[in-house]
Amino acid sequence: MPKQIAIVGAGVSGLTCGVLFAERGYRVSIFADEIGQQTTSAAAAAIWYPYDAGPADKVIAWALETYKLLIDLSRDAHSGVSMIELRAFSRAGKIRIPDWAHALGASVIPSEVEGSLPINSSALSSGFAMNVPLMDSTIYLDYLAKRFAAAGGSLKANVHFDKLENVDPAFDFVINCAGIGAKTLVQDVDLEPHRGQVAIVPKIGNLSRAIVSDDVPLMYAIPRANDCVFGGTNELSEDRHVDPAATARIVAECSRVLNIEKPRVLAARVGLRPFRKSGVRLERDKLRDGRTVIHNYGHGGAGFTLSWGCANEVDDLVRA
Ligand SMILES: Cc1cc2nc3c(=O)[nH]c(=O)nc-3n(C[C@H](O)[C@H](O)[C@H](O)COP(=O)(O)OP(=O)(O)OC[C@H]3O[C@@H](n4cnc5c(N)ncnc54)[C@H](O)[C@@H]3O)c2cc1C
Repeated sequence: MPKQIAIVGAGVSGLTCGVLFAERGYRVSIFADEIGQQTTSAAAAAIWYPYDAGPADKVIAWALETYKLLIDLSRDAHSGVSMIELRAFSRAGKIRIPDWAHALGASVIPSEVEGSLPINSSALSSGFAMNVPLMDSTIYLDYLAKRFAAAGGSLKANVHFDKLENVDPAFDFVINCAGIGAKTLVQDVDLEPHRGQVAIVPKIGNLSRAIVSDDVPLMYAIPRANDCVFGGTNELSEDRHVDPAATARIVAECSRVLNIEKPRVLAARVGLRPFRKSGVRLERDKLRDGRTVIHNYGHGGAGFTLSWGCANEVDDLVRA
């Protein structure tokens, strides 16, 4: 069993692992270049939805495990997790309800209901509805960080590693939750930055459900506690600057679908989804200095959706 665990990365993957291990009594430190609202995790809305991550069989299993844990967290008013009705639509053709959604009670939305959303029913052709957890990233990341600290964990920001062997040798176990940073940290050529941009707008009066359409162009409107997230984009790019033209396109498409006047934009955010062509990397390995490392990165567009399922598997690998 490890004596001291170092986690590299303070996004949702690193923080979730941090909470899990610190609460099980391990001595854990998280080291990260960027923390909190600077991370990709902070750019996410973040709704439970298996999207842009593989391999499908493992992703669905991790996602369903996470779903159950998030239901429990939604009972804690301070967690930033709540249950919300998700309405997934297609803008062209009939939408197929995925098998995993059937298992969670998804049902087809009858066309007469679509018109009452408020939604521009001519913009959407068919859809399904189901209840899912929503992790308000403006609250949930802080909640995880506080839980981690309360369990005795230490979090150090502005620490950049060129390689994992540079982690202090006092730590006999390393968990790599570096997201897209793993591309250079462990020279993983399989990782691709799937850039995503969102616009944060004020709460929209009667919008109480999350509206998602993942046919092109990707579109979603997700109401949170204090605002609403309009998305989105998904392109191969490392550019973390906000593109004002993309913000305008996002706001225009969401407003068209929701049948509302264009709202004012409070902020725009960009994050790099850590998509890995061969699928999420969750495995045990050895560093060149003989220490054990568990890799936990490459969650693409579903890092929140997979977070607890993956953290539990990291725990299995630590104890293997
Ligand atoms: C616009 C957008 C919307 C999204 N919406 C959703 C959603 O609704 N639901 C969902 O489940 N997912 C969503 N995602 C995907 C989700 O945000 C990611 O899968 C998730 O944030 C990945 O988390 P992570 O902790 O693995 O990586 P990150 O959040 O990127 O964190 C990586 C951490 O590692 C640190 N790091 C990296 N390299 C180094 C290094 N060399 N040395 C030290 N530290 C290092 C970073 O500083 C950071 O702290 C969305 C993403 C985007 C961009």
